[in-house]
Amino acid sequence: MKNSLNIKFWGVRGSTPCANDENMHYGGNTTCLQVEVEGQDEFLILDCGTGFRNFGNRMNEAEQSIRGRVFITHPHWDHLQGFPFFKPFYEGKNWFRIYLPPQGEIGCKEILQGHMSSTFFPVSIDMLEADIDCDTFQPGTKYFEEYSIEYMWADHTVPTAIYKLKFGDTVIVFSPDNELATDDSEKTRAFREAFSRFIKDVDILIHDGQYDREQYESRVGWGHSAWEEVVEIAYEAGVKRLFLTHHDPDNDDEVLANWEKNIKEQHSRKFEFLALAKEGQEVAISYQKTEKIPAK
Ligand SMILES: [Zn+2]
Ligand SMILES: [Zn+2]
Repeated sequence: MKNSLNIKFWGVRGSTPCANDENMHYGGNTTCLQVEVEGQDEFLILDCGTGFRNFGNRMNEAEQSIRGRVFITHPHWDHLQGFPFFKPFYEGKNWFRIYLPPQGEIGCKEILQGHMSSTFFPVSIDMLEADIDCDTFQPGTKYFEEYSIEYMWADHTVPTAIYKLKFGDTVIVFSPDNELATDDSEKTRAFREAFSRFIKDVDILIHDGQYDREQYESRVGWGHSAWEEVVEIAYEAGVKRLFLTHHDPDNDDEVLANWEKNIKEQHSRKFEFLALAKEGQEVAISYQKTEKIPAK
């Protein structure tokens, strides 16, 4: 029997939200992705950029208690700013588990607490009414009823996860902030090889495509990729569907639409699907359950 899941992009912008007319087609909210699994009442979210606020407003319409797991790739503002504005955190009937890879010696709760300390925000994490537990996600695999999740380290300016989710026979990789460097150093070569292995034959790759090669030249080391590199490496690794995301706030709809047109003309035949992610976009996927994943 086939099962189904639905992916929804609540935010696709990188760096900072940009609520300008010229950005509305692709969207101005920062990174937040929902993976909705049919028949599951526990939601699954990757990253809490400003798109997370809109997701929370939608969830808050529900009368019954809300349960959810939130996996954060890294604590840069554009992946965290929606966190304090998520209304279901303020209701005692709700239950959440938050995961973040270790930031050196600093764990998940300290990072979130720092972000919500009184200098920056009037409500501290301990004042939130919901049952919230913060889990520092050490490298390894976590198993849940419908899926497993693991990560590799991205090439970014702080410790950042590239998450891999497995739903039966279907694999999704989420990598909103990752630099595919192009220099000929040993470090770059080793990283690109490891990344290629990690994305080998995955069904869906959602990856940082903040720049094109021309823009990238003056932004080497900033932690983001040129879309041309992503398309190339994804094709070679056998990725089936590719979404480019984390759009630069200074790349307006006209720029992005031009890119998308060129990308599709040149590369569509290499993938089952290829697009620049848009805020509000949804993708339905069916998957075959494999052996029962051990609960943990
Ligand atoms: Zn980012
Ligand atoms: Zn970042």
